[in-house]
Amino acid sequence: MKIVQITTELQYIELKTPFITALRTAYHVEFVRVRVVCDNGFVSIGEAPATKAITGEDLETITDSLFLTKEQFYLHTPKDALEILHASQELKSSAKAALDMAFVSLFAQEKNLPLFAYLGAKKAVTLQTDVTLSLKNPQEMVEDAKKAFAEGLHILKVKLGADIKHGVEVTQRISRELPAARILIDANQAWSMEDAKRFIEQTKNCALVLIEQPIIASDLAGLKALTAYSNTPILADEAVFTLYDAKKVIEDQCADMINIKLMKCGGVTKAVEILEYCRANNMPCMLGSMLEGPHSINAALHLAMAYTDVIKYIDLDSPLLYKEPSDALEFAFNGCAIRYKSP
Ligand SMILES: [Mg+2]
Repeated sequence: MKIVQITTELQYIELKTPFITALRTAYHVEFVRVRVVCDNGFVSIGEAPATKAITGEDLETITDSLFLTKEQFYLHTPKDALEILHASQELKSSAKAALDMAFVSLFAQEKNLPLFAYLGAKKAVTLQTDVTLSLKNPQEMVEDAKKAFAEGLHILKVKLGADIKHGVEVTQRISRELPAARILIDANQAWSMEDAKRFIEQTKNCALVLIEQPIIASDLAGLKALTAYSNTPILADEAVFTLYDAKKVIEDQCADMINIKLMKCGGVTKAVEILEYCRANNMPCMLGSMLEGPHSINAALHLAMAYTDVIKYIDLDSPLLYKEPSDALEFAFNGCAIRYKSP
């Protein structure tokens, strides 16, 4: 099987409501869809969203870099193409992830297996995702939390910003109003060390599940100090892109958990390397995502089924935020439960 064509197209999916974090506000899911065609008729699809604030790539960078490099993969087997891909200096992590998931899906097609089985899962299992609550004023966030909880979404990822007073109020009110909810906090690097400590002190009564990337990603020493300081587990997100980053954080005990995302690490192949390392080192993970299209969410969910022992939290809620459901999703979302729809 040899690759004979790679094409890209821009896709937009409207969101129910704007998605707001400490880093950005998004009104649409915007992504590049990559289609890989082989000489035996096999076709596979990959996707990469624009996440300039995180990976530095916008839709133009992703499309242009794929256009400029795609012929390198022509007339190669998917296996060889994968090697060329990960050696590439021209492609950044999201563009790599789009091609990687398409190539890996060709391996699964060749073996006539669903991707989760190709990745080692014995059978499809029901997964649970959190749902993200956008950064808004406290009253709106409490209302959003109650609405989500009433819809069966009991794992809440609460996005907080630089205002600690606001963050403490939101956290206190949601945990008081919804004592059965599991609350994950994501500050997206917005806090100083002092802010982070203040937040930890003032929410001690809230039984939080974890606090994600409280301080700037480059401050690993600070993250390590906070991990030692906090009883609530600290999750490294923006601080970990690659296996190299993961090893550093794990070896130096800079965090209690790490958040792996296909778009940060460069795709399924690279995520598997990080997950294998975490499995060997008893490091629990979150499998996260950006705001993404259905095919890259599919790839992440297949991967999640193969690593249920390592992946303790799944943050793959983009489809819950789409205004209209997507036919391309291979999974059914019902509350926080996610089931594989057998073809
Ligand atoms: Mg995060």
